[in-house]
Amino acid sequence: MNQNNGDTPLLQVDNVTVRFGGIVALDGVSFDVRRGEIRGLIGPNGAGKSTLFNCLSRLYRCNAGTIHFNGHVLSSEPRHRIAGLGVGRTFQNLALYRTMTVGENVLVGAHAHHHVGFVADALRLPRAVKAEREARERADQAIELLELQSFTDRIVADLPFGTQKRVELARALASEPSLLLLDEPACGLNHEELHGLGALILDIRKRLNLTILLVEHHMALVMGVCDRIVALNFGRKIADGSPEHVRNHPEVIRAYLGDEEGATA
Ligand code: ADP
Ligand code: MG
Repeated sequence: MNQNNGDTPLLQVDNVTVRFGGIVALDGVSFDVRRGEIRGLIGPNGAGKSTLFNCLSRLYRCNAGTIHFNGHVLSSEPRHRIAGLGVGRTFQNLALYRTMTVGENVLVGAHAHHHVGFVADALRLPRAVKAEREARERADQAIELLELQSFTDRIVADLPFGTQKRVELARALASEPSLLLLDEPACGLNHEELHGLGALILDIRKRLNLTILLVEHHMALVMGVCDRIVALNFGRKIADGSPEHVRNHPEVIRAYLGDEEGATA
């Protein structure tokens, strides 16, 4: 794959299947994400959205199919290389070090970026010292961007949920990803926090030149910020296209009506 070809999608998911025992969580799912776009991934609970994210960050292994990212076969890379290749993520249920400070958490993300070896680190070689300084700079920038300066020395567990979510986003951004995976960023936010989220996502895309894959249940948010959307149901792709196309797609409407009936049952 030619890495410099602007027409090549940044991410290409080809025929990915994931099974857990008898459950088929993803069933031959294919789609691509173009450089610079905000791509939505929607579907009722259990559709396979988080499973797909877990394949992209190599927490799960695909039973079949391949994932190409920026000239690499992502589905064959070891898990510890993923952040360094430029894939950053947040988790549906947060995955912060709760007893550490905001600053320490974001610094962990900043360190995911550099590739100085353990020995160089231990010997405090000049390039390790330089890498440490650069990691701190990246962490500071991410903290500033998410307006977390006044929380830097606070323990994560003591902060409101919405603030913790911003910390997780800052940690992902500190690794300077080219692809950012956001798993339900609106979930659990209060009305005020929710209000600024769409603008924040658009702003970080623009300022950091990011490509974003967004899993979200909040339809107004997804429809408002996404360039294109993929809809899944029971592990299968049921629609793919513009927000307009996906919103009006009969299978998408049926999937969500079914979900609502399930929720009220
Ligand atoms: P979504 O994020 O769209 O709500 P998930 O990807 O979390 O859906 O789940 C898709 C399906 O895969 C569900 O049936 C879920 O129970 C199953 N699943 C996900 N992760 C695991 C796992 N680690 N072990 C067993 N089943 C799983
Ligand atoms: Mg999920």
